[in-house]
Amino acid sequence: MTETDSARLLIIGPPGAGKGTQASRIAERYDVPAISTGDIFRANIKGGTELGKQVQQIIESGELVPDSLTNEIVADRLAQEDAARGFLLDGYPRTVDQVHALDGMLDGRSLDAVILLEADTDAVVARLMKRAELEGRADDTEEVIRHRQEVYAEQTAPLVELFSKRGILVSVDGLGTVEEVADRISDGLDAKLGLGTEVGANAKAGR
Ligand code: ADP
Repeated sequence: MTETDSARLLIIGPPGAGKGTQASRIAERYDVPAISTGDIFRANIKGGTELGKQVQQIIESGELVPDSLTNEIVADRLAQEDAARGFLLDGYPRTVDQVHALDGMLDGRSLDAVILLEADTDAVVARLMKRAELEGRADDTEEVIRHRQEVYAEQTAPLVELFSKRGILVSVDGLGTVEEVADRISDGLDAKLGLGTEVGANAKAGR
């Protein structure tokens, strides 16, 4: 890729599929910032900001933050200079309304690819229960984890078909080691972005 090329990417999948872990690798490989709405919200809660106070209860109960608020935060973030050449969104959009809001923010420039990280519910619930022991995230109790899976199935899963119809979906099996999944994503993305060539080869060689 040259300086003027950019990659506008999303990663989507059920809570616990490993989006955050893979997002940082993809972002590094394609040299774009990883933008996670969950991380932005958690940083605000931790910092005790006004936004943090507004969203804390919602997040701890596993509900979605209202679209209007989430859209505004993403619009601000995408307007920053480092996102001008591309980005990887993680955890946004999560509703049909957010997809339309994002389309508006991109102003005719389309997304290049959407990575769907697939994993079945039992596997992701087990993973999140384990993470709860290690990290103690407030929304990682069994009840809230199950609720987040329902919210995903109802509100976010329908977006997959929408992106598939747009011809930009890259589906990847999220079960396996971090390395295995990362390789599947790279192969799928390179094929979708038409980068079987230099960038793919360079990135694989660690250049
Ligand atoms: P996970 O994928 O494990 O649910 P995230 O860090 O992506 O974790 O999100 C954590 C929580 O932050 C969500 O359950 C929700 O309350 C809130 N959140 C994150 N992104 C969005 C979004 N795009 N729209 C609404 N709420 C969001």
